[in-house]
This record gives sequence, structure tokens and C-alpha cells, in this order.
Amino acid sequence: MAEIIQFNGAVLTGPDAEERGLWSVDGRLTFRRPAAEPDRFLEGWVLPGFVDAHCHIGLGPGGAVDEATAEEQARTDLTAGTLLARDAGSPADTRFLQGSRGAPLLIRAGRHVARTRRYLRGFAEEVEPDALVEAVRKQAREGDGWVKLVGDWIDRDAGDLAPSFPAAVVRDAVQAVHDEGARITAHCFAEETLDQMLDADIDCIEHATGLLPRHLPRFVEQDVPIVPTLINIATFPDIAAQADAKFPRYAAHMRALWERRAERVLEAFEAGVGIYAGTDAGSVIRHGRIGDEILALHHAGLPMTAALDAACWGARKWLGAEGVEEGSRADVVVCREDPRQIPETVRDLDHVVLGGRLVR
Ligand SMILES: [Zn+2]
Repeated sequence: MAEIIQFNGAVLTGPDAEERGLWSVDGRLTFRRPAAEPDRFLEGWVLPGFVDAHCHIGLGPGGAVDEATAEEQARTDLTAGTLLARDAGSPADTRFLQGSRGAPLLIRAGRHVARTRRYLRGFAEEVEPDALVEAVRKQAREGDGWVKLVGDWIDRDAGDLAPSFPAAVVRDAVQAVHDEGARITAHCFAEETLDQMLDADIDCIEHATGLLPRHLPRFVEQDVPIVPTLINIATFPDIAAQADAKFPRYAAHMRALWERRAERVLEAFEAGVGIYAGTDAGSVIRHGRIGDEILALHHAGLPMTAALDAACWGARKWLGAEGVEEGSRADVVVCREDPRQIPETVRDLDHVVLGGRLVR
């Protein structure tokens, strides 16, 4: 039987809501004082466990990793406060981690689906346009309600970013995923890819570096959120430097996208577009950096409550997960200071509780 934990600090139950008096009893949260004495008392500010909305467990720089490495990645994310991960594509089957005490709750997207030779080698299920619909259907059946499409990548013949698939095929693919009862999100760097995805009725956009003011009303109207992965976008100048000699147009494009990274996220926020925190950990970005992404969103101009919402209350609601409510699963993080006043506190949590068990 799990222990009784008493949380002594303020409990942030929403971006603008605060309560006191919270316990974890047998892995569930309650605001009613239990009859038995608590086994443990935790001080500090309590928030729902962080959500990493774009994370790749089971993926390393060279593609799929072995089970021990995937376990290590999951534990690193967990101890940094990620208690729910939406895995945005993994070549390894990570179902063995589900329900583990050493891993965040995992919403898997199966394997990335990409155009042949238009993505990092060894990561994706690569197909030509005529096979896209079947490929996404397969991933919709194998994942946990999400499919990940690589919407654009460098087109080496054009020497620049370009959509991976024709618009009509993308439309059919999105429809097929919806018919399977799943949602589909797309990796999009370029401006024009966003038009194609919005036309196709996509459910979410990853990176969204090509977001222009003209796109904003459509994102709001169609209720399509973005996961900016800012700590990954920070690597664009390195990508550009490597591409300069062979693909100067692409390199210049990547630099231009990088330059507008903060402005774009703030414009989206001010327009009312849903924004969620995703680290893109797995290949270039190391695991355990959810705190850095929350701070990056804040530094882009989001108020700290909004940056927290992107990883807490709002993100949980979006993915259908419980927050800090009577009877919900005891998945919480405890900050040493009030994160609304001292943002950096999210980078070094005092405690992490998963299912009523102290993991940090
Ligand atoms: Zn990714």
C-alpha cells in the first residue's frame, strides 16, 4: 500500500487558482484530511506533474535505442518533473514502459511517418505519397491516439524546405487517421506547410516555425494548438552552418525562422492559439529539460502562469489527463519557491510524486 503524503505548501490547482491542504492517500489526491497520520510531509508549491508534449523516448541520435537506454531516458524525464509524455514518434516499441514506476505516463504516437529520404535516417516509416494513407492508418492502430507526420523537410533538388507530400494526399491521410478515431500532428518548419496542414484539418502542429500573422486566425478558428519546442529551435543556427556550402537557400531560410522564434510564439499566444511545452528530447536534445522549455516559453514573452499552463493544467486538459483534483492520480511536482515569482525554480524541483510514490 502506498504511503500517505501531506503537502504543506500552496497547491496551484489552475493558472489563477490556489488552495491549501492536500494529501496523497493510496496514490490518489484528496483535499480531505485522512484519519491516519501521514508518513511524510512535503513543503513547497504543488503543481500537477509537468507534461512534455513533444518527447521521443526510445529514440537516440542513430535511431532506435535498446530497452535499457529507453528506460534511462524515461527516468531522466520523470525526475525532471515530466509525469506525462506525449511521445511524438519513436522507432522503438516503448509499450514495456507503460505503467512502470520509473517512467512518465506515456501517450505514444507510434513511428514517425515521413517521405522517403526526407527525414533523419532510421527514425521514420518512410513512404511515397501513394502509401501514405495506409501508413498513417497502421500507426493510428498501433499508437495511443496520436499519429506523427513529418510535414516538411529539406528538398535537396529545390535546395530549400518544402512540404513532404502533395496537399490532396495529406488531406486523405488526416481523414484516415480521424476515421481510426485518432489525432494527427505534423512536424512543420516552413510557412507553406502550415497552409497545407490547416487545409487538411490537422489536429496539432509541432515546431510551427513558419507561423505567420496570416495563419493565426485559422489556428484559432480551427482550434489547432502548436508545440514550439523552443529549446530545439535554438539549434537552427548550427543546422544552417552545416548546410551553408551545399544548400545556401535552405540555410538562410533556417536562420530566418530562428530569428523570429520568440516573436512568433508571443504573436500566437496573444492571438489565442493554444501553446504546449515540448522539449523534442530524443536525438539532438537530451532528456530531462522540461523546465528549460517552460522557461524558454516565458522568455519568449509568455507570462509565467501561461508558460506553466503550457506544461501543467492546460496541457493535461488537452490530453485528457487529470490535474490536481479530488480523487485524481497523485502525479504532482513540488517547487521550492513559488514558480510564478521565481520561474527558475521549475528547473530544480524539490520533489516529484508519481502515483503517490516519491520519485525525487
Ligand atoms: Zn521531434
